[in-house]
Amino acid sequence: MPRLLSIACLAGLLLFSACETGTPAEEPTPMITDTAAESNLLDKYTSFTLTTDLSTLTENERAMIPLLIEAGKAMNEIFWMQAYGDSEALLSEIADPNLRRFAEINYGPWDRLEANAPFIDGVGPKPAGANYYPVDMTQEEFEAAVEANPDLQSLYTMVRRGDDGALTAIPYHEYFADQMQRASELVKQASELAEDPGLKQYLELRAEALVTGEYFESDMAWMDMKDNTLDVVIGPIETYEDQIFGYKAAAEAYVLVKDRAWSDRLARYAALLPDLQTGLPVADAYKQETPGSDSDLGAYDAIYYAGDCNAGSKTIAINLPNDERVQLEKGTRRLQLKNAMQAKFDKILIPIAGILIAEDQRSHVTFDAFFGNTMFHEVAHGLGIKNTISGNGTVREALRNHASAIEEGKADVLGLYMVTKLIEQGEWDAALMDHYTTFLASIFRSIRFGTSSAHGRANLIRFNFFQEMGAFSRDEATGTYRINPDNIQPAIDALSEKILTLQGDGDYDAVQAFVDQYQQMTPQLQADLDRLASAGIPVDIVFEQGTDVLGL
Ligand code: ZN
Repeated sequence: MPRLLSIACLAGLLLFSACETGTPAEEPTPMITDTAAESNLLDKYTSFTLTTDLSTLTENERAMIPLLIEAGKAMNEIFWMQAYGDSEALLSEIADPNLRRFAEINYGPWDRLEANAPFIDGVGPKPAGANYYPVDMTQEEFEAAVEANPDLQSLYTMVRRGDDGALTAIPYHEYFADQMQRASELVKQASELAEDPGLKQYLELRAEALVTGEYFESDMAWMDMKDNTLDVVIGPIETYEDQIFGYKAAAEAYVLVKDRAWSDRLARYAALLPDLQTGLPVADAYKQETPGSDSDLGAYDAIYYAGDCNAGSKTIAINLPNDERVQLEKGTRRLQLKNAMQAKFDKILIPIAGILIAEDQRSHVTFDAFFGNTMFHEVAHGLGIKNTISGNGTVREALRNHASAIEEGKADVLGLYMVTKLIEQGEWDAALMDHYTTFLASIFRSIRFGTSSAHGRANLIRFNFFQEMGAFSRDEATGTYRINPDNIQPAIDALSEKILTLQGDGDYDAVQAFVDQYQQMTPQLQADLDRLASAGIPVDIVFEQGTDVLGL
């Protein structure tokens, strides 16, 4: 984007402190002082205050919130180190307050909504492995070293060079000992206040996990929680930030309050998974795993985001845990973050539809369909298979850096498959056109996250695939898109089959070819996205959050 360049030029040069962690900074450069320039990079984000009705909580639960928020702040610190390096050294050298704020939103000097383009002068491209690996490490070197030291591949280690220059694996709980211990103590204190036995058990085990690096037991305990109103997700979780291998888990935290009315409404869908798995439009070999029947769905208001989930585009639904062993035994929990979704719908999706969706179809863009599509996306992560049928191990291992985008693409398209089935069966009372049209508007919303985001890549791939199949078409005269009702169903089935097959085969080269073919930004699409930007439609939200806005 042209304005990106101008901001980078205005930013001034930065002086980076030397850092043993392999911070991806360029050679130290003399600092050029201030620019009082207004940065319009911040216009990509619109602000939203994270609150909820705290009267649904007990006194003890309200007392736990500040502890959990403080624990979340430790995840913020860890994620900064994982994504970039020393945050203080970076932020203290940025004179322009808007630009400093923008760096905070991005947890580093690279614009997450712009394929990680640097927005600070003197900063080079973002290393694909972020700060998890030495910047001078090659994939070949890593793969050779893994033979002798499998811990290098662990979700929970930083890779560094030892004194002899060889790659070593340092567990997170050692590398981030201060932060992990602090978070652990706070979570432990919260556990002492917990009244719900499931929550208490989980918090005790999670406090332990943060300082031992053994997350399995606490993940299992998290799956066993059923009646708690207050919830927290904390620790190293998602692997999107590692764009070399997708191995390393990024620190994050969410503090959540359950919306009981909505949760009850959602509860029944997980039970339908086994049937839906059987009906998937793919050969039997690719649907031979049985989805966990213990899976559950809930609606929550988020009251705090920290670390990975708070970087760049904000998560609106959670599907965890990621550990395949827990998934096979207990399924997953799917948490819809209702207040964050409402913010994105009102402030971003409706304005996008106003520009890019055909006028006569615009009324089909509804919050209920947006909520439903996101919910079914999360449920659909439980469909398909986790292990390849070709002896290539888990799908995640086999597809490496493409695993996340392909998995997100699977969940998106199978979510549509699900809603279609459930409406046919009378299980979900809604108009299919609402779901399809809202889905189309959402594709534009998500492509704007850029190709550094797994969701952005998944949506770009799907846009091109659907366009090729005529699922929607563009009207030249108005510059708007419309769903073609006759073509969308075959497109959903075809893409579902394609992705499920790619995952089951675990054939990395075939996935690479698929990505190369469909992950293309066409000039027409770019021009349409530029219209959204020039209309001033924000790309995503940032949160006003914490104990102050909660009145605690
Ligand atoms: Zn997902």
